[in-house]
Order: sequence, then structure tokens, then C-alpha cells
Amino acid sequence: MIKQSRFFIVLIALIIVKTSVAYNPVEVFDFNKSLRIDFILTGTAKTQMAGISNLYEEPHWSGNENSLIWPMDYGTYRYEVYTQDGQLVVRNGFSTLFEEWQMTNLPKLGPASFEESFNIPYPLQPVTIKLEVRRQNEFKLLSEWHINPDTDQIIKKNPLYKAQKLYGNGNPSESLDIVFLTDGYLAEDSIKAQKDTKRFAEYLFAQAPFNAFKDKINIWLVHAPSMNSGTTEPRKNIYKNTVLGSSFNSLGLERYLTTKEYFKIKDIAADAPYDFAVVMVNTHRYGGGGIFNHFSVFTSDNQWSKEVFVHEFGHQFGGLADEYFTSDVSYEEMLDTDKEPWNPNITTLVAFDGKWQNLISKGTPVPTPRSKKYKGKTGVFEGGAYMSKGVYSPSMDCKMRTNTAEGFCSACENAITEMLEMYTK
Ligand SMILES: [Zn+2]
Repeated sequence: MIKQSRFFIVLIALIIVKTSVAYNPVEVFDFNKSLRIDFILTGTAKTQMAGISNLYEEPHWSGNENSLIWPMDYGTYRYEVYTQDGQLVVRNGFSTLFEEWQMTNLPKLGPASFEESFNIPYPLQPVTIKLEVRRQNEFKLLSEWHINPDTDQIIKKNPLYKAQKLYGNGNPSESLDIVFLTDGYLAEDSIKAQKDTKRFAEYLFAQAPFNAFKDKINIWLVHAPSMNSGTTEPRKNIYKNTVLGSSFNSLGLERYLTTKEYFKIKDIAADAPYDFAVVMVNTHRYGGGGIFNHFSVFTSDNQWSKEVFVHEFGHQFGGLADEYFTSDVSYEEMLDTDKEPWNPNITTLVAFDGKWQNLISKGTPVPTPRSKKYKGKTGVFEGGAYMSKGVYSPSMDCKMRTNTAEGFCSACENAITEMLEMYTK
């Protein structure tokens, strides 16, 4: 009996030791380079499949080694990387243009495909990658890929274009690295590309909370020349041959400026160690687009270009939702008000305690009336995410609502700060 209990004690001790052994990230990954996983999402309004397109070895990994498993549960999709013994080593979320397409009436015309991609630090041993999609606030497995760096065909890709650094001296792994890519800029527009990038970067540096992290933000520029100047405007029958294929009228929305050439974005950005690639489109027209952990697109020369850039970057970087609710955006299926959305700056009040409740001062009613009394205050104001009912925003105005807002609201500021800390700690 004594022997047996001793056996169990030893067994339990072994189990404890086994489960508490911390894995050594440098044995799993080479953080000096990255593995780029390109895949295609194909589907209809209700179905989808993800298949690998190509695997690439790229020359940089700019992420933070202390932020491999992201605690924020943002994005409609997420990927997880596991070692052979089942240890979770990387997790991050993202959103897609595909999911937006699914919400329009375009799927009635037939299935469509979208380019998707993410980079992980370069694995030194076989890993399993799970791609999951959020359904009813739970993640469901979409695809699982087993990648062996010794035997799989991983294409070593030399960057096509040189990156130039315009601001910052921080180590990329402890900095936020943003690479500006040009679209619709000719070869002779390289000085304009630099000037434009500086204008946007300095506007970003002046915005709270980015201003407090200025020393930790590196700004890069890759100027890949386009054949034509400007961008495609289908409603005006204007079609331009540009290097990143940007176009207005994305998903049938006149001012929605995006591109379907995400692999091209990644090809052109590759010389820079970057966390985020932003696409600067050489036109004076108003418009843009931004998708969490994917891309943001904005125009260079509109009177509101700087504001649009910061707003779209709010989507791309912070996972922030639009706080406006009167617009020409018309998705077939709006947000489900029975579920709490994942974005940090909107709520359906289903699970508000996980949101900005701690920022609301005592005595502020919830919901909060949109009246003068609460201007500039943090509350819970009905209207947001294109819906006037059932969705609530943290403030009466914010960069995620209007171009004339003085800054981000306190909930957005908090969410951005949390992100900045993840990149710079
Ligand atoms: Zn906000």
C-alpha cells in the first residue's frame, strides 16, 4: 500500500514536471527570419475553405518574442501554431475582406476567392498550424496544416524592392514597425512618396496614444513604381495599371478603397521588418479601407487624407470598429445584437463588463443619452458599427466616428495602448 502511494506521488510529480516544463522559444524558432504562409479563402455566403497557396522564407521577423500568444481575442479568424508535442507557441487573430464580402449581396453571383497571408517566426522543427474561424463567439477549426521546414517546399524569396527607413531607431522586435507602400506612384514620384509618408507619419505621431510611443515606432517606405498614376475608379470607368491594384468601389461601395492583391502587398513589403503594411494611394479622391491585422488603404491628397489614414489604421492595428451608424455601408447581415462583438470599442451590452466599463464615471447613465451634457465623456451611447439600434459606442465622437473628432475616445485610446505595449514591451 505504501509502495503504491509512493508510486502515485512519483507519477503525479512527473506529470507536474512534464506539464510545467517551459518550452524554449529559440529551440522552436529562428527569430531572425519568418515563414510566410499564403493561403486562399474560397467560399459562398455561408461556406468557406482555406487552402495553402505557397510557403515562403522571408528575411525578417519583426514581432515581439514576448508577444507570441496574444491575449486579446480580436479578429474573425485566428491561427495557432503547435509544436509536435502539442505545445501552443503562437496565436494571433485577424480579419478579412472575404468575411465582409460574405455580408454583402455579392455571393448571390457565385463563390469567390480572396488572398490571405500571415507570417510566423521561422520554425526550426515541424509545426502544426490551425486556422480557425469565429462562429457564435467560438472558434471552429477551418484548416490544419503540418509544416516541416526540412522537407516542405519553402521558397526563399529575395525582396523585390528596397525599403528605406524614414523614422525610428528601435530594434524591430521591440518596436511597432509600419511600412508604407505606394500605389499609383510613378518611378519619378519617389520624392513625393517620401514627403507623403512623412506627412502621415507625423500626423500619427501627434495622435494620442501613439504620441507617447513615438520613440518606439519605426516608419519604413517601399516605393514600388506603378505603370499608371492614380487608382482604379470603376464607377467613372477609369482603370489604372498600378502595382498593388487598388480600386474604389470595393464590394460595390463607392468610397471603399481596397485591393485584392494581398500577396503582392506582402511581396513588396518584404525588405522591411514590418508589423503592418499600409497602402498609400496617389489620388486626391476621398476614401479608404482598413481590416484588422490585414491592410489599410488610404489616399494621399484629399483634404481628409491624414484623418482617414489614422482611422483606417485604427481598424488595422487596434481591431477598432466604426463608431458611425449613418452611412452608405449596407451589409446584408448586420452585427448580431444577441452576441457581444469582439471589437474593443463597441458593445451590444451582452457582455459589457469585458469592455470599457471601468472608464465610465459614477453617475453616468447606461445607456448614455447623446446630449450636450455628455459631450467628451465616456459612456455607452446607442449607435455604432453602422447600426443605430442595439449597438453602443463609448463616446459621442471619436476618430472611429468622424474625421472632425479631436482624437480617439478613451476606450479606443486604451485599446490602442494595450496593442502598442504588446509590440514594444
Ligand atoms: Zn472610439
